[in-house]
Amino acid sequence: MTARQLRSAAREHGTPLVVIDHEVIRGNYAAFRKHLPRVQAYYAVKANPDPEIIRTLYQAGASFDVASLPEFMMVYENIRHLPAGQQQEFIWDKIVYANPIKPKETLRELDRYKPLVTYDNLSELRKIREYAPNAGVMLRLKVPNTGSVVELSSKFGCHPGEAVDLICQAFQMGLVVEGVSFHVGSQCTNFDNFVQALNMSAAVLAEAGSRGHEIKILDIGGGFPARYDRHVQPFGALARRINAEINRLFPRDMEILAEPGRFLVATAAAAVSRVIGKAVRDGKTCYYIDDSVYHTFSGIIFDHCPYHFKTFRRGRTEISAVFGQTCDGLDTISHAEELPELEIEDLVYSENIGAYSNASSTWFNGFPPAKVVHLNR
Ligand SMILES: *Cc1c(COP(=O)(O)O)cnc(C)c1O
Repeated sequence: MTARQLRSAAREHGTPLVVIDHEVIRGNYAAFRKHLPRVQAYYAVKANPDPEIIRTLYQAGASFDVASLPEFMMVYENIRHLPAGQQQEFIWDKIVYANPIKPKETLRELDRYKPLVTYDNLSELRKIREYAPNAGVMLRLKVPNTGSVVELSSKFGCHPGEAVDLICQAFQMGLVVEGVSFHVGSQCTNFDNFVQALNMSAAVLAEAGSRGHEIKILDIGGGFPARYDRHVQPFGALARRINAEINRLFPRDMEILAEPGRFLVATAAAAVSRVIGKAVRDGKTCYYIDDSVYHTFSGIIFDHCPYHFKTFRRGRTEISAVFGQTCDGLDTISHAEELPELEIEDLVYSENIGAYSNASSTWFNGFPPAKVVHLNR
């Protein structure tokens, strides 16, 4: 996606705009498969639930990780060319429901699809037994999230010491534990997290095996880092460590899945915005753009992700501030961007904004979410 393409898209469609390049999505998916050949990728839909992205990834061969009933139905509606008679197998091959906590109404709805769902505690297991007895279950383990940008281990995952009891309890209730899963935290650049999580999973599977429960699926979750900048090591380096542990710890016929979200889509989108106001405050130039942290730049708040701006102007740069269009003081996109002198109506753009961005757009202050356009569909 070139600057020129972004500018012409903005001229055609106006701003604020999100431009999604499907060629980049296909490239990210191919890189994932190439570097982790034993791992089937279940795209974590919450990173960016655009139906066009679902269709592109489905055509490329991906499966999907969903975390709510609407996400499940959205994926299901977009992919169901069901081979006759293979519905259950197809669902498990294509969708995992990986939110460990589910309302009973959701379980009741999901049951007819005989889905694969995660759990990490006994009350959830009782709920699944009552409302979705046809589901297969996967136990989510708590694993170290050290150094990951978005931490998840305080919210989800059973302590490794409880894991085998939770597996045995599920079998006693008549459910079948199909797999174990974990999540090392999002944007995980500390690769030791994966190594430790794989070793913890292997220990749990070995102990479950010694109690007579053979478990066939290992779900290594998400967290694969997007290369927002050069400080993030290339994916190949992480993949080599994961492959080495997988080959050392697990039998050949172990089915291994992952739930990459950010990795597949972060680099595939750019946001194009327009300068709608300009002021000098305390000696610093402040620009106001027609997007906000309540819209495409939500990742600043929810994803701890700094976004940087590029412009179509040249010239000496100075440290400037960029604010969103809403009246809220929280709506600060950057206190310190190196920008050339911009004028009202100038376009600016921000790359690598495909994950956890417009997915969380609101209508706050009456401003609608940015328009989305697709390249190379
Ligand atoms: C959010 C989430 C993911 C995706 O995480 P990324 O860091 O974007 O890869 C995967 N699995 C589960 C259960 C999640 O909640």
